[in-house]
Amino acid sequence: MEIKELVYEGVKLVFDPPKLKTSIEELLLQVGGILSEAVVVLKGGDGEAYYPSVVSFQSEKLRELGLKMVNLLKDVDIEVKGLIYVHYDEYLAEECGTVETSGKKPEGFICPLNEMYEEQFLKILEEISQINIENLIFALTGYASGSYCFCEKCKATFAMDRRMPKDFNLTTLQGEKELYNEWIEWRSNNIEIFLSKAVEKAKELNINPVFAIEFDPILRFEEGLKESLGIDVKKVANLFNHFIIMVNPWEVLLPRMGSKGFNELVQRIKKLRREVNKKLSLMYWPPNEEELKTLVQLKEETNSENLYVFLQYPEQFKNWREIRTIT
Ligand SMILES: [Zn+2]
Repeated sequence: MEIKELVYEGVKLVFDPPKLKTSIEELLLQVGGILSEAVVVLKGGDGEAYYPSVVSFQSEKLRELGLKMVNLLKDVDIEVKGLIYVHYDEYLAEECGTVETSGKKPEGFICPLNEMYEEQFLKILEEISQINIENLIFALTGYASGSYCFCEKCKATFAMDRRMPKDFNLTTLQGEKELYNEWIEWRSNNIEIFLSKAVEKAKELNINPVFAIEFDPILRFEEGLKESLGIDVKKVANLFNHFIIMVNPWEVLLPRMGSKGFNELVQRIKKLRREVNKKLSLMYWPPNEEELKTLVQLKEETNSENLYVFLQYPEQFKNWREIRTIT
Protein backbone atom coordinates (compact mmCIF):
# COMPACT_ATOMS: atom_id res chain seq x y z
CA MET A 1 0.00 0.00 0.00
CA GLU A 2 1.03 3.60 -0.53
CA ILE A 3 2.56 5.33 2.46
CA LYS A 4 0.02 8.15 2.12
CA GLU A 5 -2.95 5.81 2.36
CA LEU A 6 -1.55 4.24 5.51
CA VAL A 7 -0.79 7.55 7.14
CA TYR A 8 -4.26 8.93 6.43
CA GLU A 9 -5.71 5.94 8.29
CA GLY A 10 -3.76 7.05 11.36
CA VAL A 11 -1.35 4.15 11.12
CA LYS A 12 2.16 4.51 12.61
CA LEU A 13 4.85 3.39 10.19
CA VAL A 14 7.82 1.17 10.91
CA PHE A 15 10.79 2.33 8.85
CA ASP A 16 13.58 -0.09 8.05
CA PRO A 17 16.29 2.42 7.00
CA PRO A 18 18.11 0.47 4.24
CA LYS A 19 14.80 -0.65 2.73
CA LEU A 20 13.17 2.73 2.39
CA LYS A 21 12.44 3.35 -1.30
CA THR A 22 11.88 7.09 -1.00
CA SER A 23 14.42 9.19 0.88
CA ILE A 24 13.31 10.28 4.32
CA GLU A 25 13.57 13.94 3.26
CA GLU A 26 11.17 13.33 0.38
CA LEU A 27 8.86 11.34 2.60
CA LEU A 28 8.71 14.10 5.17
CA LEU A 29 7.80 16.58 2.44
CA GLN A 30 4.91 14.34 1.44
CA VAL A 31 3.49 13.25 4.79
CA GLY A 32 5.60 14.90 7.50
CA GLY A 33 2.78 17.23 8.46
CA ILE A 34 0.45 14.43 9.47
CA LEU A 35 2.93 12.05 11.04
CA SER A 36 2.92 12.20 14.80
CA GLU A 37 4.94 9.11 15.55
CA ALA A 38 7.17 6.60 13.75
CA VAL A 39 9.25 3.53 14.50
CA VAL A 40 12.79 3.13 13.19
CA VAL A 41 14.46 -0.29 13.05
CA LEU A 42 17.88 0.37 14.57
CA LYS A 43 19.58 -2.94 13.89
CA GLY A 44 18.72 -5.38 11.13
CA GLY A 45 18.26 -9.13 11.50
CA ASP A 46 21.69 -9.53 9.91
CA GLY A 47 23.06 -7.77 13.01
CA GLU A 48 24.07 -4.57 11.26
CA ALA A 49 23.58 -1.42 13.33
CA TYR A 50 22.25 1.71 11.63
CA TYR A 51 23.92 3.94 14.21
CA PRO A 52 27.55 4.28 15.26
CA SER A 53 28.42 1.08 17.08
CA VAL A 54 31.48 -0.84 18.20
CA VAL A 55 29.55 -3.86 19.45
CA SER A 56 27.57 -4.62 16.33
CA PHE A 57 28.48 -5.27 12.75
CA GLN A 58 28.69 -2.04 10.78
CA SER A 59 29.18 -0.83 7.22
CA GLU A 60 30.21 2.68 6.24
CA LYS A 61 27.13 3.03 4.11
CA LEU A 62 24.56 2.37 6.79
CA ARG A 63 26.16 3.44 10.02
CA GLU A 64 24.67 6.92 9.89
CA LEU A 65 21.46 6.06 8.08
CA GLY A 66 19.26 5.17 11.04
CA LEU A 67 20.73 7.93 13.14
CA LYS A 68 20.05 10.48 10.40
CA MET A 69 16.50 9.24 10.07
CA VAL A 70 15.86 9.48 13.80
CA ASN A 71 17.22 13.05 13.85
CA LEU A 72 15.22 14.21 10.83
CA LEU A 73 12.00 12.82 12.28
CA LYS A 74 12.64 14.36 15.67
CA ASP A 75 13.50 17.71 14.11
CA VAL A 76 9.93 18.01 12.90
CA ASP A 77 8.49 16.89 16.25
CA ILE A 78 7.67 13.34 15.28
CA GLU A 79 7.93 10.98 18.22
CA VAL A 80 10.38 8.19 17.41
CA LYS A 81 10.48 4.71 18.84
CA GLY A 82 13.44 2.48 18.07
CA LEU A 83 13.05 -1.24 17.37
CA ILE A 84 15.54 -4.06 17.81
CA TYR A 85 15.35 -7.83 17.50
CA VAL A 86 16.29 -9.15 20.91
CA HIS A 87 17.17 -12.80 20.37
CA TYR A 88 17.99 -12.67 16.69
CA ASP A 89 21.29 -11.37 15.33
CA GLU A 90 23.06 -13.18 12.49
CA TYR A 91 26.36 -11.52 13.35
CA LEU A 92 26.48 -12.32 17.06
CA ALA A 93 24.82 -15.74 16.55
CA GLU A 94 28.08 -17.08 15.18
CA GLU A 95 29.30 -17.18 18.77
CA CYS A 96 26.07 -17.00 20.73
CA GLY A 97 23.75 -19.07 18.57
CA THR A 98 21.13 -21.45 19.88
CA VAL A 99 21.08 -25.20 19.20
CA GLU A 100 18.06 -27.28 18.34
CA THR A 101 17.27 -30.58 20.08
CA SER A 102 18.68 -32.42 17.06
CA GLY A 103 21.95 -30.47 17.36
CA LYS A 104 21.24 -28.19 14.39
CA LYS A 105 22.07 -24.48 14.61
CA PRO A 106 19.52 -22.28 12.87
CA GLU A 107 20.74 -19.06 11.34
CA GLY A 108 20.59 -15.98 13.52
CA PHE A 109 18.71 -17.20 16.58
CA ILE A 110 20.44 -16.58 19.91
CA CYS A 111 20.63 -18.74 23.04
CA PRO A 112 18.90 -16.65 25.75
CA LEU A 113 21.24 -18.09 28.40
CA ASN A 114 24.41 -17.02 26.59
CA GLU A 115 26.35 -14.70 28.88
CA MET A 116 28.43 -13.14 26.16
CA TYR A 117 25.30 -12.14 24.29
CA GLU A 118 23.73 -10.70 27.41
CA GLU A 119 26.79 -8.54 27.91
CA GLN A 120 26.71 -7.40 24.27
CA PHE A 121 23.00 -6.69 24.43
CA LEU A 122 23.43 -4.39 27.43
CA LYS A 123 26.19 -2.56 25.54
CA ILE A 124 23.89 -2.22 22.55
CA LEU A 125 21.37 -0.51 24.84
CA GLU A 126 24.10 1.89 25.93
CA GLU A 127 24.94 2.71 22.33
CA ILE A 128 21.29 3.26 21.50
CA SER A 129 20.88 5.65 24.43
CA GLN A 130 23.55 7.82 22.79
CA ILE A 131 21.24 8.58 19.88
CA ASN A 132 18.46 9.95 22.09
CA ILE A 133 15.92 7.21 21.75
CA GLU A 134 13.37 7.43 24.55
CA ASN A 135 11.31 4.39 23.62
CA LEU A 136 12.67 1.09 22.39
CA ILE A 137 10.60 -1.82 21.13
CA PHE A 138 11.94 -5.27 22.02
CA ALA A 139 10.89 -7.59 19.18
CA LEU A 140 11.62 -11.28 18.59
CA THR A 141 12.37 -12.09 22.21
CA GLY A 142 12.77 -15.57 23.64
CA TYR A 143 13.73 -19.05 22.54
CA ALA A 144 13.61 -19.73 18.81
CA SER A 145 10.80 -22.27 19.36
CA GLY A 146 9.78 -25.12 21.66
CA SER A 147 12.67 -27.26 20.33
CA TYR A 148 15.37 -25.00 21.87
CA CYS A 149 17.85 -24.56 23.47
CA PHE A 150 20.07 -27.64 23.66
CA CYS A 151 23.47 -25.97 23.51
CA GLU A 152 26.17 -27.32 25.84
CA LYS A 153 25.67 -24.50 28.35
CA CYS A 154 21.90 -24.96 28.56
CA LYS A 155 22.16 -28.73 28.90
CA ALA A 156 24.92 -28.53 31.50
CA THR A 157 23.12 -25.87 33.57
CA PHE A 158 19.77 -27.64 33.58
CA ALA A 159 21.37 -31.03 34.31
CA MET A 160 23.62 -29.80 37.09
CA ASP A 161 20.80 -28.29 39.15
CA ARG A 162 18.95 -31.60 38.90
CA ARG A 163 21.94 -33.89 39.28
CA MET A 164 21.10 -35.73 36.12
CA PRO A 165 23.24 -36.67 33.10
CA LYS A 166 23.37 -34.01 30.40
CA ASP A 167 22.77 -36.29 27.45
CA PHE A 168 19.05 -35.47 27.23
CA ASN A 169 17.00 -34.12 24.36
CA LEU A 170 13.45 -32.88 23.87
CA THR A 171 12.03 -36.40 23.47
CA THR A 172 13.56 -37.67 26.71
CA LEU A 173 12.29 -34.58 28.56
CA GLN A 174 8.81 -34.98 27.16
CA GLY A 175 8.86 -38.61 28.27
CA GLU A 176 8.84 -37.49 31.91
CA LYS A 177 6.02 -35.12 32.59
CA GLU A 178 7.42 -33.62 35.77
CA LEU A 179 10.85 -33.07 34.29
CA TYR A 180 9.38 -31.50 31.16
CA ASN A 181 7.35 -29.07 33.28
CA GLU A 182 10.51 -28.15 35.13
CA TRP A 183 12.24 -27.53 31.79
CA ILE A 184 9.44 -25.20 30.67
CA GLU A 185 9.53 -23.36 33.97
CA TRP A 186 13.34 -23.09 33.88
CA ARG A 187 13.30 -21.66 30.34
CA SER A 188 10.73 -19.02 31.29
CA ASN A 189 12.85 -18.07 34.32
CA ASN A 190 15.83 -17.59 32.02
CA ILE A 191 13.86 -15.22 29.82
CA GLU A 192 12.52 -13.35 32.81
CA ILE A 193 16.04 -12.89 34.22
CA PHE A 194 17.40 -11.71 30.86
CA LEU A 195 14.55 -9.24 30.40
CA SER A 196 14.79 -7.96 33.98
CA LYS A 197 18.43 -7.07 33.41
CA ALA A 198 17.71 -5.49 30.03
CA VAL A 199 14.80 -3.46 31.39
CA GLU A 200 16.80 -2.31 34.39
CA LYS A 201 19.64 -1.21 32.13
CA ALA A 202 17.27 0.55 29.73
CA LYS A 203 15.66 2.50 32.55
CA GLU A 204 19.05 3.53 33.90
CA LEU A 205 19.72 4.97 30.44
CA ASN A 206 16.34 6.73 30.35
CA ILE A 207 14.99 4.41 27.69
CA ASN A 208 11.44 3.22 28.11
CA PRO A 209 11.29 -0.41 26.92
CA VAL A 210 8.21 -1.62 25.03
CA PHE A 211 7.53 -5.34 24.64
CA ALA A 212 6.36 -6.77 21.31
CA ILE A 213 4.36 -9.92 22.01
CA GLU A 214 3.88 -12.45 19.21
CA PHE A 215 0.18 -13.20 19.23
CA ASP A 216 -0.32 -16.05 16.82
CA PRO A 217 -2.69 -19.01 16.47
CA ILE A 218 0.21 -21.30 15.55
CA LEU A 219 1.85 -20.47 18.89
CA ARG A 220 -1.56 -20.77 20.65
CA PHE A 221 -1.59 -17.04 21.35
CA GLU A 222 -0.35 -15.96 24.80
CA GLU A 223 -1.21 -19.33 26.31
CA GLY A 224 1.34 -21.16 24.20
CA LEU A 225 4.14 -18.62 24.50
CA LYS A 226 5.64 -20.11 27.63
CA GLU A 227 6.07 -23.54 26.07
CA SER A 228 7.25 -22.26 22.69
CA LEU A 229 9.32 -19.12 23.29
CA GLY A 230 9.75 -19.32 27.06
CA ILE A 231 7.71 -16.15 27.56
CA ASP A 232 5.49 -16.24 30.61
CA VAL A 233 3.16 -13.32 30.02
CA LYS A 234 2.38 -12.87 33.72
CA LYS A 235 6.07 -12.55 34.57
CA VAL A 236 6.83 -10.23 31.66
CA ALA A 237 3.81 -8.06 32.47
CA ASN A 238 5.59 -6.76 35.56
CA LEU A 239 8.51 -5.46 33.53
CA PHE A 240 6.91 -3.34 30.80
CA ASN A 241 4.32 -0.55 30.72
CA HIS A 242 3.48 -0.85 27.06
CA PHE A 243 2.80 -4.02 25.08
CA ILE A 244 2.64 -4.16 21.31
CA ILE A 245 0.68 -7.13 20.04
CA MET A 246 2.10 -8.51 16.81
CA VAL A 247 -1.15 -9.76 15.29
CA ASN A 248 -0.87 -13.20 13.62
CA PRO A 249 2.78 -12.61 12.67
CA TRP A 250 3.44 -16.18 11.56
CA GLU A 251 0.10 -17.31 10.28
CA VAL A 252 0.10 -14.07 8.26
CA LEU A 253 -3.58 -14.26 7.65
CA LEU A 254 -6.19 -12.12 9.36
CA PRO A 255 -9.72 -13.34 10.03
CA ARG A 256 -12.33 -11.45 7.99
CA MET A 257 -13.88 -8.49 9.72
CA GLY A 258 -17.00 -9.51 11.63
CA SER A 259 -16.32 -13.24 11.27
CA LYS A 260 -16.28 -15.67 14.18
CA GLY A 261 -12.48 -15.72 14.03
CA PHE A 262 -12.36 -11.92 14.17
CA ASN A 263 -14.61 -11.78 17.23
CA GLU A 264 -12.52 -14.42 18.93
CA LEU A 265 -9.39 -12.38 18.27
CA VAL A 266 -11.05 -9.30 19.80
CA GLN A 267 -11.94 -11.34 22.90
CA ARG A 268 -8.41 -12.74 23.17
CA ILE A 269 -6.86 -9.28 23.02
CA LYS A 270 -9.30 -8.00 25.62
CA LYS A 271 -8.40 -10.95 27.83
CA LEU A 272 -4.70 -10.17 27.43
CA ARG A 273 -5.41 -6.57 28.39
CA ARG A 274 -7.03 -7.72 31.63
CA GLU A 275 -4.08 -10.00 32.33
CA VAL A 276 -1.25 -7.55 31.76
CA ASN A 277 -3.22 -4.43 32.69
CA LYS A 278 -0.90 -2.17 30.68
CA LYS A 279 -1.08 0.02 27.59
CA LEU A 280 -1.68 -2.10 24.45
CA SER A 281 -1.01 -1.38 20.79
CA LEU A 282 -1.16 -3.52 17.65
CA MET A 283 1.48 -4.28 15.02
CA TYR A 284 1.41 -6.03 11.66
CA TRP A 285 3.60 -6.64 8.62
CA PRO A 286 2.76 -4.66 5.44
CA PRO A 287 -1.02 -4.93 5.12
CA ASN A 288 -3.05 -5.03 1.92
CA GLU A 289 -6.18 -2.88 1.73
CA GLU A 290 -8.50 -5.50 3.14
CA GLU A 291 -6.11 -6.28 6.00
CA LEU A 292 -5.73 -2.60 6.84
CA LYS A 293 -9.51 -2.26 7.25
CA THR A 294 -9.53 -5.31 9.51
CA LEU A 295 -6.66 -3.95 11.59
CA VAL A 296 -8.25 -0.53 11.99
CA GLN A 297 -11.45 -2.20 13.16
CA LEU A 298 -9.50 -4.47 15.49
CA LYS A 299 -7.75 -1.47 17.00
CA GLU A 300 -11.07 0.24 17.59
CA GLU A 301 -12.84 -2.75 19.11
CA THR A 302 -9.95 -3.52 21.46
CA ASN A 303 -9.36 0.13 22.44
CA SER A 304 -5.74 -0.23 21.44
CA GLU A 305 -3.51 2.78 21.67
CA ASN A 306 -1.79 2.61 18.26
CA LEU A 307 -1.53 0.52 15.14
CA TYR A 308 2.00 0.05 13.80
CA VAL A 309 2.71 -1.49 10.40
CA PHE A 310 5.91 -2.40 8.63
CA LEU A 311 6.41 -1.03 5.13
CA GLN A 312 8.25 -4.15 3.96
CA TYR A 313 8.73 -7.65 5.24
CA PRO A 314 12.09 -8.00 7.00
CA GLU A 315 14.60 -9.92 4.90
CA GLN A 316 14.75 -12.74 7.43
CA PHE A 317 11.01 -13.20 7.59
CA LYS A 318 10.97 -16.62 5.89
CA ASN A 319 13.65 -17.95 8.21
CA TRP A 320 11.86 -16.57 11.28
CA ARG A 321 8.55 -18.03 10.27
CA GLU A 322 10.01 -21.42 9.50
CA ILE A 323 11.76 -21.73 12.86
CA ARG A 324 9.05 -20.09 15.00
CA THR A 325 6.30 -22.35 13.72
CA ILE A 326 7.96 -25.69 14.44
CA THR A 327 5.65 -27.30 16.96
ZN1 LIG B 1 21.52 -22.53 24.99
